[in-house]
Amino acid sequence: MPGILIFALCFLFASCGKQVLPPQTEYVLGTVCSVNLYDDGTRENYIDVFKRLNEIDNEFNVNKPTSDISKVNSDAGHGPVAVKKEVYELVRLSKEISLATGETFNPAMGALINLWGIGKDNQRVPSQEEINEAINHCRPENVQLKEENGSYYIEIKDEKTALDLGAIVKGFASDELAAMMEERKIKRAVIDLGGNIYCFGQKSSSNPDVLWKVGIRNPVDTTSDPVETVSIRSGSVVTSGNYERYFIENGKRYHHIIDGKTGWPADSSIASVTVVYERSVICDALATACFVAGGKRDFEEKLGLKGIKFIWVDDKGKLTER
Ligand code: AMP
Ligand code: MG
Repeated sequence: MPGILIFALCFLFASCGKQVLPPQTEYVLGTVCSVNLYDDGTRENYIDVFKRLNEIDNEFNVNKPTSDISKVNSDAGHGPVAVKKEVYELVRLSKEISLATGETFNPAMGALINLWGIGKDNQRVPSQEEINEAINHCRPENVQLKEENGSYYIEIKDEKTALDLGAIVKGFASDELAAMMEERKIKRAVIDLGGNIYCFGQKSSSNPDVLWKVGIRNPVDTTSDPVETVSIRSGSVVTSGNYERYFIENGKRYHHIIDGKTGWPADSSIASVTVVYERSVICDALATACFVAGGKRDFEEKLGLKGIKFIWVDDKGKLTER
């Protein structure tokens, strides 16, 4: 065999030699996270993906006492706490979205969320007195941000107010992974962070017209076929639903999305809201906001954004798209 051919074959084997792993799954961010990197699914890429997710979890998880958010919460009423820039930025964006959505999405609802404890061992229906008291400690304006000499601080002005970014952090994490994939020139990927979906890149390498398809679960009967399939070129599809985390007491379902105005689980006729947009962080926050608001509002306009698609399903299974 001529030397040049041997050299070419060696080169071919070396370049094809990267081992591609199947989609990987890990429990992080309080949920099951699965990532499919297709042809770029090397061990190294998957390690870095889950390393990044764990890093985000360590910064934002209110159940980890060492997270930046927990430190801010435990120092509430006692002055500013230094945080990482990305923590500061996500809290800043959360406050902005809270303002634009009439606080239907509210990152300062820790007092109410902890009181209900939905999905935790201490979940229960609190008394109306307890709810009334907690409502007084959910004001986003009590969360103050300060940037000084390149350092970032968050201060909660009231001892009983606490941050909880559970309604936005999975969206943030999806966008962060998408940015990582862009940087690494990964061609296509599906990120599924507990149902918070991001379809990255072109689905088919040979045909740009092939779209990603994402099914929307039937919130009324989660075991049945999807109620709708969303087709997208790339971007995120996020659903907030009353079937995700809840408990039942005396035949009534108490789910995990709280209406800060009443202090009770949001009680409209809506069973799920899906938001489709290129930025998952926006999808995640607005899905929660629209669920509480009971449908689409002018949130998109208030945030100065365009091209967001909303799909909601009511408690009878009826679907509306806009
Ligand atoms: P999601 O599944 O994205 O709708 O987020 C629900 C999670 O966000 C809950 O488990 C709470 O931690 C938190 N949460 C509940 N209600 C709200 C709300 N109205 N605004 C902001 N966060 C909320
Ligand atoms: Mg959300």
